[in-house]
Amino acid sequence: MTTQTLTEVRQTNALFTDLLISGQLHKAIANQGWETPTPIQSLALPALLDGEDVVGLAQTGSGKTAAFAIPLIESIDPKARGIQALVLAPTRELAAQAASDITNLSRYRPVRPVVLCGGISIGSQIKTLSKRSGGASVVVGTPGRILDHLQRGTLKLGSVRYLVLDEADRMLDMGFAPDVGRILSHTPEKRQTALFSATMPETIRGMVKKHMRSPKWLAVESEAPTVDTVEQVSYRVEGREKTSALRLLIDGAKEPRVLVFRRTKHGSTKLHRQLERAGYKVGLLHGGKSQSQRDKTLASFAKGRTTILVATNVAARGLDIPNISHVVNYDLPEDVETYVHRIGRTARAGKEGIAVTLVGETEVKDFDKIKRSLPAKVRESCLPNAA
Ligand code: AMP
Repeated sequence: MTTQTLTEVRQTNALFTDLLISGQLHKAIANQGWETPTPIQSLALPALLDGEDVVGLAQTGSGKTAAFAIPLIESIDPKARGIQALVLAPTRELAAQAASDITNLSRYRPVRPVVLCGGISIGSQIKTLSKRSGGASVVVGTPGRILDHLQRGTLKLGSVRYLVLDEADRMLDMGFAPDVGRILSHTPEKRQTALFSATMPETIRGMVKKHMRSPKWLAVESEAPTVDTVEQVSYRVEGREKTSALRLLIDGAKEPRVLVFRRTKHGSTKLHRQLERAGYKVGLLHGGKSQSQRDKTLASFAKGRTTILVATNVAARGLDIPNISHVVNYDLPEDVETYVHRIGRTARAGKEGIAVTLVGETEVKDFDKIKRSLPAKVRESCLPNAA
């Protein structure tokens, strides 16, 4: 396995303008305001543009979406028929986000990805697929729904040349391994495959061995670059006082845009109700909501119509909402990985942000365990009193 380090990267590909890609893509990248590739982009872009298979060990927030989206767009032949590229992502939100990044970057070279996820009527997706003259060239979706289409015969993957497995570790955690295997068996063996994952457990290595051809293994230093600029604070709070502690934090913030994590659907619903009754503009996001409800909630929060979003871990990964001032762990995350993903929702794109963990009496030991695995220190503090 060859891995390159962050330092080596900085010496290699310094600018986007050094990349051999079309003028339209250069223009779309410049429109995004990006000048230098992120470390994972510096490593993955040249390899993928060269047609190599790539395994990228990269966290969310590292810029990995553009790392696979730029070569994807470049690889699309506007004259060819059938689906040329397929992106598999674990959740609807991540699929929607990948599709939106692809759309933004293909502004001058439209590839118009079709999103196929659960939560949306399959009938309307079938209509979209059949309506596209010349077919859809790019499909982005979640494994369950993609497989459903394959089994109905409404999706054909025989012409796929470029395949992406995004957040592969999470897809496997969610039990999608058999679905992913079945989907891959519908694609040609002679294709280019990119796999991105925040961790590299044995199961992923097995998957790489089975489905990829002598891939390049790329890794950037493990801490997510965005997490460096997150100030981490914890407060000892007893169970029932957590809501008042949260309100103190919100009321004390200058321009609050607060993402609050709860562990369960029930817990998040309850907290949402309490905050709404107290007069806050607050949204609610959990796995039980329909796709359109989730989209609306996210849009309201992103646009600032709501200033607080109460969510379960569905919002922990990949969500890219700028200017989140605080991430609050109302309930402790299950493990250090979830902690890092949650707090990575703030301090995006070099901005500053605060991650607050409210630690109840029964959570002290578990939080100590999380803290021990963190590279940066979590400051312990006392809550200001209401006065
Ligand atoms: P991702 O890890 O793909 O979720 O990307 C994290 C964030 O970084 C997104 O907001 C991207 O728009 C942004 N981004 C991606 N590439 C770059 C870049 N080269 N320069 C600045 N921001 C970037």
